Amino acid sequence: MEKQKNISFPSNLHGHTTYCDGKNKAEEYILKAIGKNFISIGLSGHSYVYFDKEPNMSLDGTLKYIEEMKFLKEKYKNKIQVYIGIEADFYSGFNPKVDKNLGLDYRIGSVHYVKDKVKDEYYCVDATPEILAYAIKNYDNGDEKSLILAYYNNIIEMIHTQKPDILGHLDLVRKFNSDGRYFDENSEWYNRKVDEVLDEIAKADIIVEINTGGISRGWTKTPYPSVSILEKIFKRNIPITLSSDAHTVENIDYYFRESVEIAKKVGFKSLKIMRDGKFYDFEI
Ligand SMILES: [Zn+2]
Ligand SMILES: [Zn+2]
Repeated sequence: MEKQKNISFPSNLHGHTTYCDGKNKAEEYILKAIGKNFISIGLSGHSYVYFDKEPNMSLDGTLKYIEEMKFLKEKYKNKIQVYIGIEADFYSGFNPKVDKNLGLDYRIGSVHYVKDKVKDEYYCVDATPEILAYAIKNYDNGDEKSLILAYYNNIIEMIHTQKPDILGHLDLVRKFNSDGRYFDENSEWYNRKVDEVLDEIAKADIIVEINTGGISRGWTKTPYPSVSILEKIFKRNIPITLSSDAHTVENIDYYFRESVEIAKKVGFKSLKIMRDGKFYDFEI
């Protein structure tokens, strides 16, 4: 695909509206994307999970969100390509069979929680440093390794059972770990596990997103996944895309220019972009 001038990447498929924990309405994102000369814009409401209602869409809200997106897709079809997505949490159990009749254009598969091995309790790895510390302390035998490995095991299971189009914020467990305070990202056990996950992704035809949401919210200094993981992704020929995980319209292309530079430095020549209902290579 032709490179466009003055625009680092003219699309974003990861954004949240007021149906979940986003601050803006779907139409506001679409208007912002039109203003930025985007080729396509997709939104990806957090799927319903029964044990954490606050940040996620309700069941009823999910249907309303999809209806509204269908209406907006039609309304703006001469100005921009609008796509209807969902950020399907692992514990929502979405898969091509379950969501077949919803009218989704794509699914981002994300792991945000790890379920306790014994109790009916779900530990969120995405909420606050305190909740992460609580999760580490209470999960299994209480060391950081158990929780982090369980997080990645959920990703592997999600790849096999749910087959998302895009894998969301691959190393989200790094969110509160900028000073290496919770686990060592250079440790052998961590890297071995990441290798295992990436080998599964490579077999499954799934796109990994470079996600700038951790930076825009002030938690990380670099996008997900880390540069060392991006290098592993590049070696395996796994395709990548770029998204901002926007919770406000201002962040629709947050850190895109810098992220494209990071991807280029690793060796990537293109990013996947959704156009005419399919994923194409966008040259960088
Ligand atoms: Zn997420
Ligand atoms: Zn998100």
